[in-house]
Amino acid sequence: MMVIMKTKASEDQIHYVVKKIEEVGAKAHLSKGKYKTIIGAIGDREQIVKLPFKAYPGVEDVLPISKPYKLVSREFKPEDTIIDVGGVKIGGSYFAVMAGPCSIESEEQVMRSAEVVKKAGAQILRGGAYKPRTSPYSFQGLGEKGLKMMAKAREVTGMPIVTEVLDTRDVATVAKYADILQIGARNMQNFTLLTEVGKLKKPILLKKAFSCTIEETLMSAEYILKGGNTKVIICERGLRSFESATRNTLDISAIPIIKSLSHLPVIVDPSHATGKRDLIKPLGLAALAAGADGLMIEVHPAPEEALCDGPQSVTSTQFDDCMKSIISMAKYLGLKGIG
Ligand code: PEP
Ligand code: MN
Repeated sequence: MMVIMKTKASEDQIHYVVKKIEEVGAKAHLSKGKYKTIIGAIGDREQIVKLPFKAYPGVEDVLPISKPYKLVSREFKPEDTIIDVGGVKIGGSYFAVMAGPCSIESEEQVMRSAEVVKKAGAQILRGGAYKPRTSPYSFQGLGEKGLKMMAKAREVTGMPIVTEVLDTRDVATVAKYADILQIGARNMQNFTLLTEVGKLKKPILLKKAFSCTIEETLMSAEYILKGGNTKVIICERGLRSFESATRNTLDISAIPIIKSLSHLPVIVDPSHATGKRDLIKPLGLAALAAGADGLMIEVHPAPEEALCDGPQSVTSTQFDDCMKSIISMAKYLGLKGIG
């Protein structure tokens, strides 16, 4: 249920409605817009509908939320969510590029990557310390040692860092270092992990699973918001399809669709979507044109030596070239925060 408060509703009137919702054992989630406050009443529907909301002072209207996801829906929060990560904004009209190696391999590799991506204009450094690998015999990541290298790169460059958390047992460790915690595509429906990161105050990058629908993705985001963490960024990174020319198939339509259904920012990862470095620039630009709020791109100082995802990682020269086009297109579109 959504309780829409009048434009001039006072704080006391808002608190009164919240109190009434909590009295029946439900949870009240506030969405404060520019003009109106909307209060989402989430819990036992039978109890909630008994409340005479329209009789409460300051209440304008009461509406059901038609979608299965509530807090992530545009119905509940019509304005775009803008997420601030150490001064870098994502969402609304702010565009951010997260770039760096697939996995952290050494201090030298992280530092070189950080310098390259910063110089080219990326705002956030990416790099995995806990890697979800198909083969148990492949490099699994450096763990906390890798996180320390990322933290050092942040110290030197001033760039916020995004890194993946694979397991509930590592949430506290990853949260100690990361500015954004990434939930990978394979874990998008790991509901215990989603619940754990929902308890954090830090932004979460939720990667859309390659075999899940948009609705399932929004339901996963709902787990995080329900826990109290409203800072979720959704990432489209390609779907599994019959096409074998690319690693996955980038679902460009997911960008405007998710943005119409939800207020959360949507970014695109053309690296995992295509598996091919030559496709990063055209698909990155396509994502930007379709309304993405950011991009995540894998960059490696020497992709031929990468321990993970070398074929899809761009070199520093290629990244530089990509960023030139991305920045000029972002400026043409009137986006802020980049270039
Ligand atoms: C990654 O970004 O490092 C990654 C493993 O991506 P995905 O979960 O989308 O496969
Ligand atoms: Mn990768």
